[in-house]
Amino acid sequence: MRPWGSTGCAVPGKILVTGGRGQLARALLAIDGGLLAPGREEMDITSYDAIESYCRGKEIAVVIHAAAVTNRHAEDADEGYILANVIGTAHVALWCRRHGARLVYISSDYVYPGERGGYTEESPLFPVNRYALSKLGGECSARLVPGSLVIRTSFYREMNFARGCADQVTSRMPVAEAARAIHSLALRSDVQGIVNVGRPRPRSILEIVTGEFNRDAASVRRRDIALSYILPPDTSMNTDRYATLMTEPTTASKTQSRCRMCGADTLVRYLDLGSTPLANSYVPREQLAAPEFREELALQVCTSCGLSQLTRVVHPDLMFRNYLYVSSTTATFRTHCEELAATSSRAAGAVPGDLVMDIASNDGCLLSKFMDLGMRVVGVDPAENLAAEANAAGIRTLNAYWSPAIARDVMARFGAPKVVTATNVFAHVDDVHAFVEGVAACLARGGMFVIECPYVLDFIEKNEFDTAYHEHLSYIGITPLAKLVALHGMALVDVEYFADLHGGTIRSFICREGERPRSARVEEFLAREASFGITRAETYRAFAERVLLNKRQLRELVARERAAGKVIWAYGASAKGNTLVNFFELSDREVPVAIDDNPRKWGYYTPGAHMRITGIGELAGARVDYLLLLAWNFKTEIIARCNAARYAGAFIAPVPVPAIIPSTLPGAPVR
Ligand SMILES: [Zn+2]
Repeated sequence: MRPWGSTGCAVPGKILVTGGRGQLARALLAIDGGLLAPGREEMDITSYDAIESYCRGKEIAVVIHAAAVTNRHAEDADEGYILANVIGTAHVALWCRRHGARLVYISSDYVYPGERGGYTEESPLFPVNRYALSKLGGECSARLVPGSLVIRTSFYREMNFARGCADQVTSRMPVAEAARAIHSLALRSDVQGIVNVGRPRPRSILEIVTGEFNRDAASVRRRDIALSYILPPDTSMNTDRYATLMTEPTTASKTQSRCRMCGADTLVRYLDLGSTPLANSYVPREQLAAPEFREELALQVCTSCGLSQLTRVVHPDLMFRNYLYVSSTTATFRTHCEELAATSSRAAGAVPGDLVMDIASNDGCLLSKFMDLGMRVVGVDPAENLAAEANAAGIRTLNAYWSPAIARDVMARFGAPKVVTATNVFAHVDDVHAFVEGVAACLARGGMFVIECPYVLDFIEKNEFDTAYHEHLSYIGITPLAKLVALHGMALVDVEYFADLHGGTIRSFICREGERPRSARVEEFLAREASFGITRAETYRAFAERVLLNKRQLRELVARERAAGKVIWAYGASAKGNTLVNFFELSDREVPVAIDDNPRKWGYYTPGAHMRITGIGELAGARVDYLLLLAWNFKTEIIARCNAARYAGAFIAPVPVPAIIPSTLPGAPVR
């Protein structure tokens, strides 16, 4: 088993959340639609057999045990506490122990004495009431499961009260924020034992109520509330371990110390883009205060084969389960798919009825073009929502990461594909050997494997440093790719180049060795890469110097215009823009707002810089002097859109040399 690599997932099975109707399970489902979240009627944890029968055959790898009878502030709930919180948890723990699943148990801050606050995971326990006692009872069996994790937390959804205690202090957090923390910690099997999850700064109940729900809530004291039970004065927790886990590089990432393609250890580091959050992890407003996962973003080149690659590989589950990810189906993209389907069918000599497979098939746009040509198709994609979307549209799609095992499955079920395509995925793959091995195992005789990926020469020559982000592991040229496929009995026989696609894209045609001669175009590319110096460290050092100069110049330009009282917004809240802004150390102070065309991002904030994302409509009523063109590769289209929206300000092109572009809107002020 390969625990690492996008072709093999560290959580090889499903994640189950108990208490599927509860507020935490619902918040978890909003993050990861692929969770299994049975309610009590489907799986009653007070019966061990019910758990066995629900879970049978589901390949569950992680159980987030959230089901519980909650704190009822009354002592008539004892039977429920015993049945659900103690016995039910023991059943879940037993099931996890017997089936080797990881158990993540959601416990409570109420297991601490609740007097002084600031409790660490090692503090002595003294449950504040009977509910807390039952949660501690659950903890006892949870901790007997090897590798388990106990999360002590407290969260809320609605606290729209007319009054709030000023002398009751807590680390309580919004449920969406708790769910996000629990989800990331659950996926990280290296995190075990106990973790306190809560807001780093304790707040009183009054502060939470007036700050988030009802500004006019009355301030009361605990003694003013006539209740039969004790309200603990201070259950706040020390959340340092949680903050460290979420922010520091950990075993959630690994160091790339040998070349991914040729295996050499001759790696030379050349560009450091800083420790940055994941470029696609957009932040909801209520989570702005929460720590963001960060990892080093730096590039190194293999001087043996010329492959540029990131120094650190973030665990794929942290990146590819992203819920804001949507397929891009622009008209340009559809036209490109149509051309690709025709060209690769021709190259492979495929005829109607032949099988075509697309790896990382997204919503099936490319496969639909092959279907138009009369081919049978099958897609493979790890994003459950996209696979479901494709299947609903009649494009057969397997929901999985590509691997040799899936290759055998495809062969057995559908036969050998005549064409295998992989567009914009190969650069994201860690274990490229398993990826190619899988294709080599299933490709039909005379078939063609077609890879499209961004071209490293453009990356370097056009200063496209902002196309570096944690998902983009390799920066590929023909030299290293030809070397890689040769190791798997295949040959790179032809290549095409698209200057305008994703800043410069190469399309490689790969077949079994000996089936076709190598074209003159491949020789031309190899010669050009040799004279470019693809394996020479100096080539890359010179690039790094240009990028650092670019950073200095843009920061100076922004500082100068801001000092003159100018307002700067950004256009394009993409992964690319996020890399640029974070590396250039710009934040919402300099650039408070980013416009994006994807409505699903509106209302969120960009990772790291925390620019608020909105639609172009907001430009009309705002006083904006400059738009920083983060999607600078779409400069012309964006300027046209802004003109159509009657935006009269100017633009700043950030890369490769920062420049101010005056407005072309008739009647706009001259700058
Ligand atoms: Zn190499």
